[in-house]
Amino acid sequence: MSAQNIAIIGAGPAGLIAAERLAQAGHRVTIYERMASPARKFLLAGRGGLNLTHSEPLDAVLGRYREAKGWLEPAIRAFPPQALRDWADGLGAETFVGSSGRIFPRAMKASPLLRAWLRRLEGLGVRLASGRLWTGWDAAGALTFRLASSETETVHPAAALLALGGASWPRLGSDGGWVPLLAAREIAISPLRPANAGFTVAWSQTMRARFAGTPLKRIEARFGDEEVAGEAMIDADGIEGGLVYALSAPLREAVLRDGAATLRLDLRPDLSTEALAARLTKRRKGETLSNHLRKAAGLSPVAVALLREVAGAAMPAEPGALALLIKDAPLRLAAPMPIARAISTAGGIAHGELDAGFMLKRLPGVFVAGEMLDWEAPTGGYLLQASLATGVAAAAGLEAWLARA
Ligand SMILES: Cc1cc2nc3c(=O)[nH]c(=O)nc-3n(C[C@H](O)[C@H](O)[C@H](O)COP(=O)(O)OP(=O)(O)OC[C@H]3O[C@@H](n4cnc5c(N)ncnc54)[C@H](O)[C@@H]3O)c2cc1C
Repeated sequence: MSAQNIAIIGAGPAGLIAAERLAQAGHRVTIYERMASPARKFLLAGRGGLNLTHSEPLDAVLGRYREAKGWLEPAIRAFPPQALRDWADGLGAETFVGSSGRIFPRAMKASPLLRAWLRRLEGLGVRLASGRLWTGWDAAGALTFRLASSETETVHPAAALLALGGASWPRLGSDGGWVPLLAAREIAISPLRPANAGFTVAWSQTMRARFAGTPLKRIEARFGDEEVAGEAMIDADGIEGGLVYALSAPLREAVLRDGAATLRLDLRPDLSTEALAARLTKRRKGETLSNHLRKAAGLSPVAVALLREVAGAAMPAEPGALALLIKDAPLRLAAPMPIARAISTAGGIAHGELDAGFMLKRLPGVFVAGEMLDWEAPTGGYLLQASLATGVAAAAGLEAWLARA
């Protein structure tokens, strides 16, 4: 097939991998990016350890996408975790499986991988046009961009691929500004909502002042019939961290539907209620309840403070009741934290708008990939896994469409 001009908009992981695939197929690819440099969120993701994907069995990985599993499955099977690892290895970012089963590059950071990736793209002849904000289409159907100088630019490629991300951490470039542009073309878009986000809790002044920034380690949380183990972090306004993020989808829906949700915490998951109650019977004379809880139940100061928050004036003294509270502390969540503080975004372009090649049915020749699509997943590498797999799938869809056109 002859080389065609292709515009990719958005230089995040989804857009970059689509550019790589299409340039390898021999096309002339230009990536348009609003920021001065590419992949800012990907670089930030690497700050706490770049979790590229997960080593659990593929069926378990697919289950992480909940309602979106069915339609994401072909893309993830075509570019599964092992393919992602091989690709990273090929860029000199050899990966390893961490103790939690999560997969990271040995360097842990995103920057060496990104540098090698951009070099590869340059070698393939991909042009990166940064500082260009996509603003939609003009009357002739050309893509329009606004430059920092306020000048405009229009391009009319053979096909376009949008990889504009969600709306979390908007200062890194993805702010969901594409929603009205596509809604004006009658594309159905589920409202963008925070995913992998914390929740607000009406803490007392003491809790805020003394424990904001303190982790609650080795605990378990339950909501509905789901239970997860891990760590949470007390925030001045609420609670966040991996354990909360893992349940954030059902919690968010419950809070939005019912106005609040109760997360049940087990602060000593390694001990049974009976074993805890037995330990709590031996309270020394004159010992404060806080010291007793610390010594007999082995609770950290933040865990004791949390018990006081949830029990309020009804803090029990009897060992059996105390043990039950430690094993099943009801924490009332008032609202999701704002999307700007979330790790990722739920909602986006409805699956029904796409054909099997990730093309917008209403806009032939326009393909979409990454977090701007309506799927969500917990942290654990599943976000990059799906962003990259949909980037690969949309590039394949675009390639097949050009071949037919
Ligand atoms: C703090 C943090 C840590 C994370 N850690 C991990 C992790 O360890 N593992 C994991 O799997 N995921 C992680 N993620 C999530 C992951 O980074 C995202 O899911 C992924 O970057 C989404 O890729 P994307 O290409 O779809 O979108 P993005 O990475 O958001 O890229 C979209 C690009 O489009 C550009 N753009 C947007 N609008 C326009 C426009 N109108 N015109 C031109 N350009 C535009 C943006 O500037 C951006 O460069 C983390 C996220 C955060 C915030």
